[in-house]
Amino acid sequence: MPDQLPNSQTPAPAGAAALSSGSSAKPLQFQQLQSCANTSARLGRVTTPHGSFDTPAFMPVGTQGTVKGILPDQLRAAGAQILLANTYHLMLRPGSAVIAQLGDLHRVMAWEGPILTDSGGFQVFSLADLNRITDSGVIFKSHIDGSMVTLDAAKSMAVQNELGADIIMAFDQCPSADAPPEMHRTAVDRTIRWAEECLQSHQRPREQALFGIVQGGTDAQLRAECAAKLVAMDFDGYAMGGLAVGEGFDAMQRMLAEGVGHLPSDKPRYLMGVGYPRDIAMAVASGIDMFDCVLPTRNGRNGHAFTADGPVRLRNSVHQRETGPIEAGCDCYACRNYSRGALRHFFFAGEMLGPILVSVHNIRFYQRLMADIRRVIGDGQFETFLREDPRCRLGSGVPMAGEETIAAADTVDD
Ligand SMILES: [Zn+2]
Repeated sequence: MPDQLPNSQTPAPAGAAALSSGSSAKPLQFQQLQSCANTSARLGRVTTPHGSFDTPAFMPVGTQGTVKGILPDQLRAAGAQILLANTYHLMLRPGSAVIAQLGDLHRVMAWEGPILTDSGGFQVFSLADLNRITDSGVIFKSHIDGSMVTLDAAKSMAVQNELGADIIMAFDQCPSADAPPEMHRTAVDRTIRWAEECLQSHQRPREQALFGIVQGGTDAQLRAECAAKLVAMDFDGYAMGGLAVGEGFDAMQRMLAEGVGHLPSDKPRYLMGVGYPRDIAMAVASGIDMFDCVLPTRNGRNGHAFTADGPVRLRNSVHQRETGPIEAGCDCYACRNYSRGALRHFFFAGEMLGPILVSVHNIRFYQRLMADIRRVIGDGQFETFLREDPRCRLGSGVPMAGEETIAAADTVDD
């Protein structure tokens, strides 16, 4: 069982309340427990009104208010301590008012621990049929019923206030990596203006922590400017947005190395939508505390399993009579109970248990990675881990021994 489970799902309202009322009634406390002597990696703990989570942390993604096919008990058993849900999807269906009426997102997801919602910004800019973008917001066509929907800073806050997550995100504009420089400039100007509007329209600042998002593409100066202006607004935490959107590993590493230093050390730092194990390990070394990505569940549903030796595609004929588990030594439910051959059969027979079990394994793989990262930071061995652990080389498009590359995140709906 994961080592950090005991504190993960303790609702801990008492502790959280004590922390909140003890200081300035902040909805979030970040405690830095240890830092790496040779990199910017740090071990910490974030406490919210729904309990705490250890950092560096990985958040499984529950796009529609559920992590596809996975029960909350299974998420807890896999070591997940905080989940993410998407504002864009939930505002369109069933609508935040319905979620609020059902008792908020924690009740809908049957998850008593911390939850983070994004602002809807990333998805509206990357997925939606955009009608108009102005300095005040975005008008887009709903993919559910074709109606015209407006999303702006105030609306994003109103929706996230109703959804009721512990951590909510400021509305930002995220251009693609190859957008022209003037578009990144405009996006930063809007992101800063919208961040201010989010702070002003946030109705539950004592219950929901609000994070600002740093944009600026791969322009270090623009990122520094964006970070400085957001830091002056004093958010509860900060995210690096607009990375892992096609700029490549080296550019992302450079932006993190230059960008994280502009963020205060006493607040959590979140790298949105990242990523592969190699990206996560590198970003931890740059001082990032929080991650989310659809890869473990999306790839799991497609029969692609993560292992330390490289990706395993369970539909591959080589696994037909394989009696061993997905990954030797893995303590997840799938690896303790099922052979690769059985899982392959489930995928070919169209049985839903195949996608569920491989998702369970992949979520546990990511949580084991994070638990190991936390352990080695605590032991002062993070730099050695970064150099020697094979998981720190598992990236996009990297061919691994005996198997194909990991499937890229190429669909839009989680
Ligand atoms: Zn496993």
